[in-house]
Amino acid sequence: MNLATPYVGRFAPSPSGPLHLGSLLTALTSYLDAKAHAGIWLVRMEDIDPPRQLPNADRMIIDTLTAHGLIPDGPILYQSTRQKHYLDSIKHLLAHNNAYRCICTRAQIKAAGGTYPGTCSTAKLTTSPSAIRYRNPKNIEQFNDRFMGLVTSTAHEDMTIQRKDGLFAYNLAVVLDDIAQGITHIVRGIDLLPTTIAQMNLWQHFSSDFPSYAHTPLLVNPSGQKLSKQNHATAINNENALNNVLYCLTLLGMNISNNARKQGLAYVLQEAITHWRQGILFPSHEIIVT
Ligand code: GLU
Repeated sequence: MNLATPYVGRFAPSPSGPLHLGSLLTALTSYLDAKAHAGIWLVRMEDIDPPRQLPNADRMIIDTLTAHGLIPDGPILYQSTRQKHYLDSIKHLLAHNNAYRCICTRAQIKAAGGTYPGTCSTAKLTTSPSAIRYRNPKNIEQFNDRFMGLVTSTAHEDMTIQRKDGLFAYNLAVVLDDIAQGITHIVRGIDLLPTTIAQMNLWQHFSSDFPSYAHTPLLVNPSGQKLSKQNHATAINNENALNNVLYCLTLLGMNISNNARKQGLAYVLQEAITHWRQGILFPSHEIIVT
């Protein structure tokens, strides 16, 4: 592990509900990775999709992180404060023909096989409102994921960067903000692995300094279902913070000493950072929790 490399990491939850075990594990792994590299760990609230957000979920997420000792090294950036920047970037992309308007419906894309075939890419539409798509240069077809190894994808499409309803797309906001915040290391859930190459193709338009990516396994129940807000994974109880962290560390294959357990959360996290420095190897894409 190279401790001389500057490291800025982040955890970027969407406030669509309180944290559950899977998202706590993601927060913890990104935190441990940052601290093991003597890096900076930031939290960014990805609140750009109001229809999918719950009132106060941001507060609940922050309270849970705090209760579990996961304290960011800087102010929390709310994506809702960044709308002007997203809009300016889209205008710039459109003006330089790096993006275009698209009026295709979901049904049409589904009928075309599910991957957007670029139907509107040469139409020079001016229709408004309409979705806006990034003209994917397809320069990047693979990357080395620190946890998962070589990832390759040739399933390129021109992804939506602004939806027809005017909302900015996650894929645009995440890239612009990671660049703006100087993020060097992205540690996040493996459910985002399939969009990573598309994000990198957008990233390279704005910056040639790519981050390192590492995707953590998904937590699934014994019948193979992903633990997520959507399937009502139970919210984390902050009263049990120490046990929750210990449980997550067990899932990561770490044995925390009785001594650290007795001394409390700060000691447990410190010991976990030491373990992490010695190397972490994820056996598979999924961890089954019972
Ligand atoms: N906001 C995204 C989510 O909660 C994560 C974004 C990211 O880590 O790139 O799924």
